[in-house]
Amino acid sequence: MIFVKNPEQLEKMKLAGRITGEALAIAGEAVREGITTAELDRKIRAHIEKCGARPSFLGYGGFPASACISINDEVIHGIPSSERYLKEGDIVKIDVGAYIGGFHGDSANTFPVGRVSDEAMRLIEVTKESFRRGVEKALIGGRIGDIGSAVDSYVTSFGFSAVREYVGHGVGHALHEDPSVPNFGKAGHGVKLCRGMTIAIEPMINAGSAKIINLADGWTVKTADGKLSAHYEHTVAITEDGPILLTEVK
Ligand code: MG
Ligand code: MG
Repeated sequence: MIFVKNPEQLEKMKLAGRITGEALAIAGEAVREGITTAELDRKIRAHIEKCGARPSFLGYGGFPASACISINDEVIHGIPSSERYLKEGDIVKIDVGAYIGGFHGDSANTFPVGRVSDEAMRLIEVTKESFRRGVEKALIGGRIGDIGSAVDSYVTSFGFSAVREYVGHGVGHALHEDPSVPNFGKAGHGVKLCRGMTIAIEPMINAGSAKIINLADGWTVKTADGKLSAHYEHTVAITEDGPILLTEVK
């Protein structure tokens, strides 16, 4: 069932979104060679709790940390660890959620650690641009398939591929609500978009094949071919004034 938000609820989602975006920005600024993923996770949790919110991911399905932090060929759901040190040349995906006032925000970004390869930088930039192309289609009267089609056609033109098994989603009272928002699909098909829908648009883009594998830790998702993967996500409200990025902080 899709929960459409009224203006009052959207205001609450803006607060959850802002705290989420701030926590992600703080972590992004802290990304450097030698820091552990556990330390990034601590900074995220500290900011969210300072704001009177709670980390959406902590305890979600038993997840043991406040953020998902995934390096290089890890796609999503990496578990922060005091033994994982970032190295120059890595790309690190940080995915954050904050819950306050009955609503969640959900946002992710991919950060380079120092100097990274040209291909890594291109993957990061193409993933972010694919998000932008998808969000342009998040319009009243449009269809979910318009978003996925825009993302997929853009990334495949670079020889990259969108992950199939994991997709964007509605977000609000629950971290994951209907509808699913795949990063592929047919324009003009799928659920109709309407005013007050709030969705996480989140391209997960692999440099090589779309195939993924799930690690034995029960969480981490990796590319099957060992090539890099990038992730970019915002919580987006569909409004009469067009899409609003609730987790964007400027
Ligand atoms: Mg997320
Ligand atoms: Mg999400």
